[in-house]
Amino acid sequence: MNIKIIPQAQLEKQSNKVSIIRQTPLLFYPNPQTLYSHRAKRLQTLTATSPFSNYLDFCEKIVTAQAKLLETKPIKIDLTDTVASATANNLAPLSISHYPLSTQWMDYMYPIMDAVIDVNDAINSTIHDLKNNTQDELLNKATALLTDQLATVDSKESLFIWSALSLYYCQLASQLPGKAVSQSSQQNWLCPVCASSPVASVIHMGDNIGLRYLHCSLCESEWHVPRAQCTNCDNLENITYYSLDNELSAIKTECCERCHSYLKIFSQEKEPHLDIIADDIDSLLLDMETEKQQFAKSGINPLLFSA
Ligand SMILES: [Zn+2]
Ligand SMILES: [Zn+2]
Repeated sequence: MNIKIIPQAQLEKQSNKVSIIRQTPLLFYPNPQTLYSHRAKRLQTLTATSPFSNYLDFCEKIVTAQAKLLETKPIKIDLTDTVASATANNLAPLSISHYPLSTQWMDYMYPIMDAVIDVNDAINSTIHDLKNNTQDELLNKATALLTDQLATVDSKESLFIWSALSLYYCQLASQLPGKAVSQSSQQNWLCPVCASSPVASVIHMGDNIGLRYLHCSLCESEWHVPRAQCTNCDNLENITYYSLDNELSAIKTECCERCHSYLKIFSQEKEPHLDIIADDIDSLLLDMETEKQQFAKSGINPLLFSA
């Protein structure tokens, strides 16, 4: 099962073919209006008790800047044609191979950097270097990050570039005029909206209780994936779970014995206030323990490129 986004009009034309529309909600577009304020609040809460409180405090400054920019410099773009041509070409509508990268995200990067100026000398030096980059240099670095060449960009620079890109793509994703349908094709665990990697997976509560979704590291959409299946190689066997406290912990790592990767899995039912990106940082001790068992993380945390 793979998830594809098709234009609303096309979905209506196909509505007699009900077999393609599953009962399970396949995709949740992000809601930037609540996402950043909720994340900033969650970071504040976690900072009080976390072993990584200094870093969470730094992240909170970035997220608060993202929330403010959403109000002062919102983006509104008509993406009707984008969805139609992506469907025709079988591509994720906001993937860089389909939707060319503009320079709009750069307007976000400078205020985000200004929000953490004087945190420490290393950060100041990164900010200084990035401010001296030309527009072309910044576009090249952003393109490298969006095409999975993470190692070619300094991780401290990546954090600022990605925070700006993410605010841009999150708004676009929230405005996509398309519906998600499932289709049979080769498995693909990248985001069906922007083709980026997930941060982690989350078991939903409420109407979708018990269903698992992957959370996108770039546009913050969430898409459905079955449980107990490796999200890196599709393996269904020998999946092992680790947690720090006990079996009922809200946060576990799901480890695949075949490809030796792992991804964190969060339970909203056990921790209704969680924010995947904030809680992923707060639970870094679990990553350290899982990595001691020779598993490598397959997710990307946008506020943690230096990990
Ligand atoms: Zn995405
Ligand atoms: Zn695997």
